[in-house]
Amino acid sequence: MFEQRLAALRRSLAQSNLDALLVTYLPHVRYLTGFSGSNGHCFVGKRTEYLLTDNRYRDQVKEEVHGIRVVITKKSLSEAAAGLPVFSGSMRLGIESQYLSVAGLATLKKRLHRVTFVKTQSLVERVAAIKDKSEIDSIRRAVDISERVFRRIVEFVRPGMTELDVAAEIGYLHRKLGAEADAFEPIVASGRRGALPHARASSKKIRSGELVTLDFGCRVKGYNSDLTRTVAVGRPLARARKIYQVVQDAQRIAIEAARSGMAAKALDGVARSYIRKKGFGRYFSHSLGHGLGLQVHEAPRISSLSKDVLLDGNVVTIEPGIYIPEFGGIRIEDDIVVRNTHPEVLSRSPRELLIL
Ligand code: ZN
Ligand code: ZN
Repeated sequence: MFEQRLAALRRSLAQSNLDALLVTYLPHVRYLTGFSGSNGHCFVGKRTEYLLTDNRYRDQVKEEVHGIRVVITKKSLSEAAAGLPVFSGSMRLGIESQYLSVAGLATLKKRLHRVTFVKTQSLVERVAAIKDKSEIDSIRRAVDISERVFRRIVEFVRPGMTELDVAAEIGYLHRKLGAEADAFEPIVASGRRGALPHARASSKKIRSGELVTLDFGCRVKGYNSDLTRTVAVGRPLARARKIYQVVQDAQRIAIEAARSGMAAKALDGVARSYIRKKGFGRYFSHSLGHGLGLQVHEAPRISSLSKDVLLDGNVVTIEPGIYIPEFGGIRIEDDIVVRNTHPEVLSRSPRELLIL
């Protein structure tokens, strides 16, 4: 598994005319080596690879990392990386420009005068965007746990509870049902607050007649789920039902349209043009979806500006929404695996408007 990932990364290093990559972002370190600790760098050269970490992880590394050379160090990881016996004068070393700290880069440059540092973006992310079976299985388990949580949450929510009460219950249930952690702070947005697509849960009380948007996910073996349902607490307004139907239909046609080989931008357009046709175009203010894996937001990006092409084995979210200021918002989000034919839909919670 890790050999295949390293081989795929080496192919993309060669295409970028790089001799090696220093991986400093922990989810990427985990993806390439299996190491799940909180302090690690990984060096991938043409023929060698190293994992660098500190003494606290001596035992954990033995359990998690196989077939990769491990360096346990007391120094900073940049200092230790600069000391690896792999650097030659004219070498072109890729660094993860979004993640390596300014101090880390300064340390490397001080020690490695003749190495050319090349800023890279998304090299590992692009390799990791295509999931193998074991990765999809982990995401499936995370989705399954979140869906069981959702079933319990719809029994739990009552008028008079605060959004934070509901968010706390989601976090508690995720762990009780076997997740490592929440994938992110659960979003619970009721009534007018639903118009804020990324509202954090607040101390606002949920009132009868309001819509409540619940956006939550959990992590299993490092892999995330990400689901959204908007439910009605008490009888919703006719306008809310109408808008809900538009979001639900837009999501369904987008899921049906998703195929490998398709431009992510075109898939975004499928949902966006439908919502526009229904008169709500300016209220769909974010992208249609995103890749999902070791990170909650990763490649491919499904937006009107994306240059990504969907590939067999991508796991992505499809999450159209309509947000009307002073009124509220509706979003429905599911997780799918892109295939050459119909996508595999991982989440199965009902998409019809639930009235609690
Ligand atoms: Zn979400
Ligand atoms: Zn999402």
